[in-house]
Amino acid sequence: MKIPRHGMPEQDPLERAKNFLEVPLGYTAEMAVEEAERCIQCKNPKCMEGCPVNVKIPQFIFHVAMGNFPLAAQTLKETNALPAVCGRVCPQEEQCEAVCTIGAKVEPVAIGRLERFVADWERMTGNVSLPVIAPPTGKKIAVIGAGPAGLTCAGDLAKLGHAVTIFEALHKPGGVLVYGIPEFRLPKQIVDAEVSFLEKLGVTIQCDFVVGMTRTVDELMNEDGFDAVFIGTGAGLPYFMGIPGENLNGVYSANEFLTRVNLMKGFEFPNHADTPVPMAKHVAVIGGGNTAMDSARTARRLPWTEKVYIVYRRSSVEMPARKEEIHHGEQEGIEFLLLTNPTRFIGNNGWLVGMECQKMELGEPDASGRRKPVPVAGSEFVLDVEAVIVATGNGSNPLINKTTPGLTTNKYGNIIADETGKTSREGVWAGGDIVIGAATVIKAMGAGKKAAAAIHEYVQSKK
Ligand SMILES: Cc1cc2nc3c(=O)[nH]c(=O)nc-3n(C[C@H](O)[C@H](O)[C@H](O)COP(=O)(O)OP(=O)(O)OC[C@H]3O[C@@H](n4cnc5c(N)ncnc54)[C@H](O)[C@@H]3O)c2cc1C
Ligand code: SF4
Repeated sequence: MKIPRHGMPEQDPLERAKNFLEVPLGYTAEMAVEEAERCIQCKNPKCMEGCPVNVKIPQFIFHVAMGNFPLAAQTLKETNALPAVCGRVCPQEEQCEAVCTIGAKVEPVAIGRLERFVADWERMTGNVSLPVIAPPTGKKIAVIGAGPAGLTCAGDLAKLGHAVTIFEALHKPGGVLVYGIPEFRLPKQIVDAEVSFLEKLGVTIQCDFVVGMTRTVDELMNEDGFDAVFIGTGAGLPYFMGIPGENLNGVYSANEFLTRVNLMKGFEFPNHADTPVPMAKHVAVIGGGNTAMDSARTARRLPWTEKVYIVYRRSSVEMPARKEEIHHGEQEGIEFLLLTNPTRFIGNNGWLVGMECQKMELGEPDASGRRKPVPVAGSEFVLDVEAVIVATGNGSNPLINKTTPGLTTNKYGNIIADETGKTSREGVWAGGDIVIGAATVIKAMGAGKKAAAAIHEYVQSKK
């Protein structure tokens, strides 16, 4: 293999820590063609087995290598309605790239970066091709939640000729893609473009519509004439730690903090925003996943912030966040307090003024297979922080479960569904984080796809 894997051009770390512009700048056409030429077009392409939505990876890469970008885009879109999103946020290092044949000897083909290049090329040149849409079937399908699961399910059903309406609780479609993942990792205009592609397929999106309050699942089916329902409501309910002082002003869930910044531009309050964000100089983020990294890097970019800590109870080896995100966070000056666990929040007149922490050491592996953190006696210390963002996980919102009789859930409130997404309720499917718990964009999309195929079969078999 003569050509080494192409690196990704990026914004300078010192510069980008002061702005919300995208960090990776994307491949040029020359870089993309050269990277595509590294693919050896395996007869038995392992990369495809690693992709939950079965993107025809060798084919699209072949078209890139030939410089035929329109055909590459068309090939990608056959199975993936959100390629510009996946090219940016999918953990390719654990999926398609992890099993790429050439990865055994040299670095794997940069499949994600090529996907991003093709999707961006299509959007920026305005060369957007529409797939063939089947004639109308007369069937109406309701999709609840406009996250990756719902958007994918809706897109596939629309292509099959069904009349699809997405009902979304927030004022903007996209789910975590708009309210959670920050602009510097996933610019909102990219999500908007991919959402508007769905609208071109004929999907109707109704925002500010909370199923379980505005209408129930039963009302949608029995009174509004929907033949089937897909529930893709995600895992948006934040978990807290249950330690003293959690109700103090200045303690936020990651979801609340990220929503205020990403979706409501709270850092421009009171000029261009309806909601403020904490004007703290010293911020600690608790957790070690992507949500924690996103919160810390977002806090770092607020104009008044001087110091941002990640407080994580295990070591860097066990951190679940993508390695690239951890590296970006380090470059941007975030301080990692590893093997450290908060024990209480300290307040003054109802406002947070500090966080007591305890040092940890690693013991035997626990149920998750990771070594269990064990407190070191007498190692407590106080961190001077005026804001804390808790990013220790999310669960499912109970609203739909409570208002839909006969819908079976597990002890965490996740909807129980088979591998096609079929639930215990006739005509109701579910997929994404609401079924498997907080996971990844591509898994949610894979679930949306499988459910769309099953819903299609179901409504077609109904008289
Ligand atoms: C901060 C953060 C960063 C992440 N980073 C990555 C990453 O880099 N890569 C990756 O692969 N994954 C990442 N994830 C995980 C990924 O975003 C999720 O797994 C994925 O979005 C799940 O998709 P979903 O469609 O199931 O749910 P969601 O994206 O949560 O969408 C659910 C939608 O349903 C709506 N909804 C909820 N209840 C109702 C209701 N009753 N009525 C109507 N609408 C409702 C919600 O408002 C939301 O828009 C991240 C998650 C977070 C929180
Ligand atoms: S496994 Fe790697 S080299 Fe083989 S077809 Fe897929 S991307 Fe190309």
